[in-house]
Amino acid sequence: MASTIYALPAEVVHLITAGEVIDSLASVVRELVENSLDAGATRIVVSLWPGQWRVRVADNGCGMTLDDLQKAATAHSTSKICSCADLWKITSLGFRGEALHSLTTLADLEILSRPLGGDCGWRVVYGYAGEALYVEACAIAPGTVVTVSHLFGNCSGRREGLPTLAQQIKAVQATIHQIALCHPHITWQVWQNDREWFSLCPATSIGQLLPQILHQVKEADLQEVKLEIPNPENSEFGIQKSGLHLVIGLPDRCHRHRPDWIRVAVNGRMVKSSELEQTILSGFYRTLPRDRYPITFLHLLISPEHINWNRNPAKTEIYLNQLSYWQEQITQAIAQALRINSTSVKDAVHTTRVGKLLKAAEEKGGYNVNRSLTCEEHKTHPEMLLATSLQLKAVAQVNNTYIVAEHPGGVWLVEQHIAHERVLYEQLCDNWKIIPIEPPVILYQLSPAQVSQLQRIDLDIEPFGEQLWAVRTVPTLLQQRDDCADAILELSWGGDLQAAQVAVACRSAIRNGTTLSLQEMQTLLDEWQRTRNPRTCPHGRPIYLSLEESALARFFKRHWVIGKSHGI
Ligand code: ADP
Ligand code: MG
Repeated sequence: MASTIYALPAEVVHLITAGEVIDSLASVVRELVENSLDAGATRIVVSLWPGQWRVRVADNGCGMTLDDLQKAATAHSTSKICSCADLWKITSLGFRGEALHSLTTLADLEILSRPLGGDCGWRVVYGYAGEALYVEACAIAPGTVVTVSHLFGNCSGRREGLPTLAQQIKAVQATIHQIALCHPHITWQVWQNDREWFSLCPATSIGQLLPQILHQVKEADLQEVKLEIPNPENSEFGIQKSGLHLVIGLPDRCHRHRPDWIRVAVNGRMVKSSELEQTILSGFYRTLPRDRYPITFLHLLISPEHINWNRNPAKTEIYLNQLSYWQEQITQAIAQALRINSTSVKDAVHTTRVGKLLKAAEEKGGYNVNRSLTCEEHKTHPEMLLATSLQLKAVAQVNNTYIVAEHPGGVWLVEQHIAHERVLYEQLCDNWKIIPIEPPVILYQLSPAQVSQLQRIDLDIEPFGEQLWAVRTVPTLLQQRDDCADAILELSWGGDLQAAQVAVACRSAIRNGTTLSLQEMQTLLDEWQRTRNPRTCPHGRPIYLSLEESALARFFKRHWVIGKSHGI
């Protein structure tokens, strides 16, 4: 049965952020749809008539009794909280009891509703103070249909300051998309001017839903991580777990030219949180091309006492207790999503067919340590163990540029230079060392800016005569290189320490065109797989191309029944 609506006591009303929640067509849609979700609906039909400033939202939720319908639109009436203490236990999307009341003051409001199990439905038309003006029985399936017409009709000044109708329509679509991402199990049908506008099928995961919203993204371009995480210490509800659901666009496959798809939701609602957005961006550091931004959707499910929703009336901003704890969890989740392991290989079917199909000539060449593939000992990250489970095996080199690698689920082509660049870059970040060299590297005709740039990245540089400078310390990797002087010149052209690390890694990585032995290729593959961000190089270029067994089987039509295809 439907829950019961009461007017909130005055002391609770004082604690609630007061303010106008209805300021556009999109905000009407948001408030009505959130009510449908709170009512447990699984199917929501939104109809929009922008020219008439009319919105209708129909749902199959719990519905309302006649008694509740009569109270629903009076000021501060809600069935969702009843005391101040409840403000810290909010699990519903609404709680202020304000939306329907505001709508009666700004528009014409009519609600049809029938509670689950109720034997009849009721239609109520409300007056400007939220009172039930007109009540009649009506035939309706269990659920609720709310119609708002002539929005801002009695205060036409309000319409003037608004964005154009076309922009408002776009905002309605964006609102529905955002809410849908937070509730992927809902079936949506959206109509505009009596024609079907768009629909969204229910999905079992966000990764399944996102391609319906962002059409250029495929499910295979996405990686999902679903984690159960402990609540921060000193949490009142120590035993309760929180959830973190993250979907990222793989950085070697999709990214955007604006940071418009770094979305964060908390407990079923999209929020703006520059702190969490920044954490997400940092998680993608040096994995994307310059000026490109990731596609991410993060949904935190946190026990309500950690959240204060009362930051603004539209509830799009929140205060999170223990912010740095959640930031750390997000960083770890992104790191996990960016790694490569057997579970994250898309489409992988674990058969050994590919292994049998591929015949690679065993090469006997010895391992040449001077090629700097093992030049720097590096820290083993605990999470690396996860990554090793893929068992990539080097089988051949193509054009002295690509390593052909096999694993039980497919074949990969790995570009040797950038794979090595990724390895060296992470080693440099973990262990950037400047060491003395003897004799010093002599450079000439440096500008004062170049000299100070080299000093900025901590190289020991001093005048050595007319137009000459002596560089007495260099980054470890450059020490034994023949082109050490060129490399230092390159560093002198600018950039911060991170840029210098990228430049040194790029210069030191094995070049394309270099012949590698099988053993060398295997070492490189092993080291590369253990990197934190194996998908792209520090400039954001993709490192590998995978041909998964399932895709190969599809291409070679291995599912054909030969007898049939031969016409037998
Ligand atoms: P709030 O959502 O903050 O409680 P609203 O003004 O949006 O305030 O709604 C008032 C009350 O009306 C809700 O608490 C709920 O009990 C009831 N209600 C509104 N919309 C629906 C719906 N679609 N289905 C069932 N009940 C609803
Ligand atoms: Mg509401």
